[in-house]
Amino acid sequence: MTTVDCAVIGDGVVGRFTALALAARGLLVSLSGEDAGSSASALSGGLVRAYSADPFLTRLAARSLTSVWLNCPAYRRTGSVHVVPRAGLDRAVLSEMAAAGVPYRVIGGPARHPVRLERGDCAVVEPYGGFVHAGEALRWLADRCRDDAAITRTGPVRQVITHGDGFSLVGTGPAVRARQVIVTAGPGTAALLPPGSAPEVERRRIVYSFVRLGDSGAVPHTLVDTVPDTWMRPAPEQGPGVLLVGRADPMPWNRPGRRDVTDRRTGLRAAEALARRIPALSKAEYLSSVVASDMYATPGHHGDVPAPTATDGLWYVTGLSGGGFKIAPALGERIADRMTASDNDVAQTLYSNDVEGGDHV
Ligand SMILES: Cc1cc2nc3c(=O)[nH]c(=O)nc-3n(C[C@H](O)[C@H](O)[C@H](O)COP(=O)(O)OP(=O)(O)OC[C@H]3O[C@@H](n4cnc5c(N)ncnc54)[C@H](O)[C@@H]3O)c2cc1C
Repeated sequence: MTTVDCAVIGDGVVGRFTALALAARGLLVSLSGEDAGSSASALSGGLVRAYSADPFLTRLAARSLTSVWLNCPAYRRTGSVHVVPRAGLDRAVLSEMAAAGVPYRVIGGPARHPVRLERGDCAVVEPYGGFVHAGEALRWLADRCRDDAAITRTGPVRQVITHGDGFSLVGTGPAVRARQVIVTAGPGTAALLPPGSAPEVERRRIVYSFVRLGDSGAVPHTLVDTVPDTWMRPAPEQGPGVLLVGRADPMPWNRPGRRDVTDRRTGLRAAEALARRIPALSKAEYLSSVVASDMYATPGHHGDVPAPTATDGLWYVTGLSGGGFKIAPALGERIADRMTASDNDVAQTLYSNDVEGGDHV
């Protein structure tokens, strides 16, 4: 039997950063995982930047970018362009970026450079945005977890049993006893929580494709277009001039895992949607596609992370709505702060959900 202060179930990007943050605060930690090969983390596009859907997520994303991603060997600085309807530009989000010292500028449409913007559009351009190669980042994190003597790796967990003074984790291998448990198991999260504790999240389909623009047309920066929910990044790991383009469906889709797309039309939908921003994409050479899924939250769900269950000491995090990679480092710190010292005023202030409005720009 392994006895720890805190058990982290799920070794995706959130679980790994959480385990490291807990260990950095002096706790003994177990990190339980199964084959992460088809997890959202392993299949992630890995786009990182500070701009995000709301001020709270932006605070986490900005902190993650400046304190971790910029120094991560898997990070590629390309610059990032995020297109939003001008009416949807949230000034409180820009205030968070300014407060965090993240440089950016806002370009209004109509414009043809760096991407085509129509009247009524604008784009937030971040010179320090870019992407993290997900596989490389997960390996980097796995090495850091392995080198940390406070972290014990274990296999998948089948059941969490509640005792008066803590929890037992039952799965393959030796049992784990823990005072506190944090479940970050993506689609496996609900099955590990007590009945009635499951979060309100749904799975959504994300189709992404590799396309080649050719050397002359290669786009060096990342691009996110909010309507529809499409994104793109350079994919130099697939060869010169190759881009990774992805699109999240607005509808729920309840099939986990990853599969290859054989239907070329489906595979090209993201590239076609982004062609209104970068017209050369309409002539891109199609290479291959993958279908994956991620956990999407109902609006406002992320406002309470980690979320407590009715059982003291049992917490969960899931439903990061296609944006969990970029916030994972700060989310791990936030989770660790909440679990180690709920009266830690400094941490509470730093990561408070009560984001103030105002315009610092
Ligand atoms: C195609 C795609 C593209 C994306 N692109 C971006 C992007 O560009 N930028 C961005 O910020 N975000 C992006 N995301 C979102 C981001 O990848 C996710 O929000 C994030 O990876 C979620 O991480 P996680 O650790 O919470 O969950 P997961 O990655 O789902 O990890 C959960 C882990 O728990 C394990 N597990 C499950 N059950 C058990 C069990 N019983 N016992 C032990 N372990 C268990 C699983 O094997 C898995 O390894 C993308 C997602 C997808 C799918």
